[in-house]
Amino acid sequence: MPPRTTALAGLTVLALALTASASTGRLLAEPPTAAGPSAQARATTLGRCLIGGDLGVQMSEGIPTGPGYSRSTGTVRALNLMVDFSDAPGEGRAQDRLGEFFPQTTDWFRTSSYGRVDYRPEAPLQDWLRMPKPFKAYGIERGAPFDPGYRELVDDIVAAADPDVDFAAYDLVNILVTPNAGPSALDTVLSVTFAGNHEAPVADGVPISNASFVYSRQDDGSGNYDQTGYRVLPHENGHVFGLPDLYTQDGGGAVGHWDIMSEDWGANNDLLAWHKWKLGWIDDKQVDCASAPGTTEHLLTPLARTGGTKLAFVPLTKETGFAVEVRTRAGNDEVVCRPGVLVYRIDADVDTGHGPVTVFDSTRDSGGCTRSPNVHTELSDAPFTPGETFTDRSSGVRVTVAGADLDGNYRVHITRR
Ligand SMILES: [Zn+2]
Repeated sequence: MPPRTTALAGLTVLALALTASASTGRLLAEPPTAAGPSAQARATTLGRCLIGGDLGVQMSEGIPTGPGYSRSTGTVRALNLMVDFSDAPGEGRAQDRLGEFFPQTTDWFRTSSYGRVDYRPEAPLQDWLRMPKPFKAYGIERGAPFDPGYRELVDDIVAAADPDVDFAAYDLVNILVTPNAGPSALDTVLSVTFAGNHEAPVADGVPISNASFVYSRQDDGSGNYDQTGYRVLPHENGHVFGLPDLYTQDGGGAVGHWDIMSEDWGANNDLLAWHKWKLGWIDDKQVDCASAPGTTEHLLTPLARTGGTKLAFVPLTKETGFAVEVRTRAGNDEVVCRPGVLVYRIDADVDTGHGPVTVFDSTRDSGGCTRSPNVHTELSDAPFTPGETFTDRSSGVRVTVAGADLDGNYRVHITRR
């Protein structure tokens, strides 16, 4: 493993997801998952596969996503403000900072959502928006809570931008901070999202409840910054759509490079099928719910391809289950080195950053199959290939890869008690 990879291993602990207390949420007229069928109809067809967490979980893997987050399908209007400070004046043009993230972020969402997200980045202010206080005065550090520093910062952003910006016209806000404010991302990642935060300051009649803050540059020194550096933004925006962090204190060891909420450094990657279902990018009819005892067969199409069945789910309890999907090197997945059937466990009652998803490695302690920098190596060869079986002794669940056809579709047999 090259030294650079070693040095960065701990840095896969990326941007924190901080959410407002669930008790502060209010019901919206139009929940984020409004595009789907009604909750009652879903419960009938998908039954036990609509797992959920209890109310104590701030940001849960459960479906449907709770109220208060940004819509995740259709037209999503993103307000981008480039912010600088007297002790960290913007270097170069603010438009160049914007250009580090667009159009790549727009393309990423279009590809990952099969065209269901029409992400419209707007930057009504051309220049740096200068804050009235120096950067140091806001006390911004990794893990800083919303109060008091971020509240002050948002208050100051609103005051400075409001004459020229209609905050009510946007679904989410991206604050692209000048990269010279704060430490290098190699030292500590400050980027953060406050999602579903209805106690946020109000502008133009709406709370700034879904806002992503991006600091520094995620430049891994591989010379690929212009291709990979934007990826922190789709990660942060994943939070405004209600997705939790999948990395833990120990880094990306639970999910590896199989989801941008786990690793947003290095080569491009996609989201898990479970997340795409949660976001409304996969229809209910593209999900097989394996809740009946016995053995069932499922024909899964590659996740990166539009159409077909994308996910088989094996519910275990009201909060947990196993997910099964096909990952190949295509679409946003640039470094898949062992295509096949990915099996992982969802725990909807485990909170963001504490390991709500665990990928099972078909080849444990193999050292993985990728050499790509900043990609979790061990789990890179996690998928199961034809003839292989995943077995969970405690639940009695077995997932066997029965075969793959010439079109890249996989037949999977699921056996459960
Ligand atoms: Zn995050």
